[in-house]
Amino acid sequence: MMENTSNFIKTIMKQELENGVVDHILTRFPPEPNAYLHIGHARAIITNFELAKSFGGKTNLRFDDTNPVKEDVEFVEAIKEDLAWLGYTPEIVVYGSSYFEETYEKAILLIKKGLAFVCDLSQEEVSAYRGDTNNPGKNSPYRDRSIEENLKLFEEMKNGVYPNGSKTLRAKIDMSSPNINMRDPVIYRIIHINHHQTGDKWCIYPMYDFAHPLQDSFEGITHSLCSLEYEDHRPLYDWVINNCDVKHKPRQIEFGRLGITNMIMSKRYLKQLVDEGYVKGYDDPRMPTLTGLRRRGFTPNAIKNFILSTGLSKINSTIDYEMLEHFLRDDLKMKSARPMAVIDPLKVVITNYPEGKVEELPVLNNMENPELGSHTITFSRNLYIEKEDFLEEKPNKHWKRLSKGLEVRLMNAYFIKCEEVIYDEKGEIVELHCTYDEKTKNGTGFNERKPNGTIHFVDAATAQSATFNLFEPLILDSVVSSENFKERLNPNSWVTKEGFVEAWLKDTKPMDKYQFVRNGYFTTDYESKGNKLIFNRIVNLKSSFTK
Ligand code: ATP
Ligand code: MG
Repeated sequence: MMENTSNFIKTIMKQELENGVVDHILTRFPPEPNAYLHIGHARAIITNFELAKSFGGKTNLRFDDTNPVKEDVEFVEAIKEDLAWLGYTPEIVVYGSSYFEETYEKAILLIKKGLAFVCDLSQEEVSAYRGDTNNPGKNSPYRDRSIEENLKLFEEMKNGVYPNGSKTLRAKIDMSSPNINMRDPVIYRIIHINHHQTGDKWCIYPMYDFAHPLQDSFEGITHSLCSLEYEDHRPLYDWVINNCDVKHKPRQIEFGRLGITNMIMSKRYLKQLVDEGYVKGYDDPRMPTLTGLRRRGFTPNAIKNFILSTGLSKINSTIDYEMLEHFLRDDLKMKSARPMAVIDPLKVVITNYPEGKVEELPVLNNMENPELGSHTITFSRNLYIEKEDFLEEKPNKHWKRLSKGLEVRLMNAYFIKCEEVIYDEKGEIVELHCTYDEKTKNGTGFNERKPNGTIHFVDAATAQSATFNLFEPLILDSVVSSENFKERLNPNSWVTKEGFVEAWLKDTKPMDKYQFVRNGYFTTDYESKGNKLIFNRIVNLKSSFTK
């Protein structure tokens, strides 16, 4: 799809290839392994992989694990799985930490060039000296240490002589630069901690702004694509590249972040939802995480088409959730079978149908796509229809469903007429007594009279009981921030119903996808088993939630 669409990054790549600035394209996706990926990350993934692909290039997966404090191997595995699910295979999988040695050597090079110094200011003092947008910063009193002293102190930092936070290595750039990132940024800090990849080998760790351009360069990345908040960091990216005597010079290009209405994606919010038990985990079908969306039944195709349809712009954008739903329906419509399921059952007895008789009727799996084949449904004396398909009195002429004394067509079967309503002692409806007309068998061309609509049903003789999980957004308002989210949570975000599906579905497997006639698109949940079927609603047939 991206082959046909143009965007500003693609234009830059094309020009650079034509002018010989680069002779191939190599991009990278660099997640921090400190959280599960969400649909916003999908924009970064799809952008990197699709752009490279459109020029015959490749994409690396690089775990940005230079900050050892917040990371975990659990996330590394989850991120790999998400990428594979989206259908992307990285050229290589690497860890930022595997470049610690080379990165350290570049720091020494900067010291030797007089471009870096060891600073004893505390974190608070560093910020106080930094100034702000209106005021230039002040030079650190340690800025003029000799090269020899800096080399000795930096080596001691590396050897574990100093405690956390007591010293940093800073680039010597310009404390009065209008860009605060250029005011002698810290490039190494001391953290005595066990790292999930390098163990106890290091107690000094490079900062993102120093490590990232170097990693890009060591790997031979041609275009380092990142989201907009890094625009102000680009001068520092270029400074590192230009002063570290690197062989290969990558180029940073920023693109806008993607937001979606009714989907809050900040890591802090997702973590709170999980940690405080508002959802059942990162793979809860209501979560905007890729693992949650997968369980909900979203398809990689729908996500890709959605992301590509939003285009790629330099500014952050917020897209309507309904767009995503549109691409889901679009992807599932012709590919999924359309069996019948009754989510909220009402029992129907066909009083003139012989007891014990069970009839098999053929149906197409998807009447718009005969290639999906066919199966049989059964019909017998006891059936289930949806509660909402019956009203005792026809309320108005728009009511095209069942009422007392009226006749409807049961999809794929017969016309039935409601003769009697049976109540319990509380006055609740228990079952309907109906009659059927043998001459109206589906497909026999009977058209003497018009029924009052067509409804679906499941035959009780062969029905499989099933649990249906019905979802709405976790938050109904369109505020994109997670502020006060606890008061804004939608109490109906997960509703469970007990009903029935056709016998044909008894061997359904997790992740199988269906359109349940009139009820929407569903997928079989991971926990669904032979005698305990569970289905998650992916999306309604038509958009219904209120904004
Ligand atoms: P944090 O800033 O807390 O680390 P992050 O969302 O930037 O969060 P990363 O793991 O660093 O998390 O993200 C990997 C890549 O995905 C980055 O290049 C980031 O810019 C990109 N990304 C994350 N969220 C979005 C989004 N909503 N739209 C586009 N790109 C995104
Ligand atoms: Mg980040």
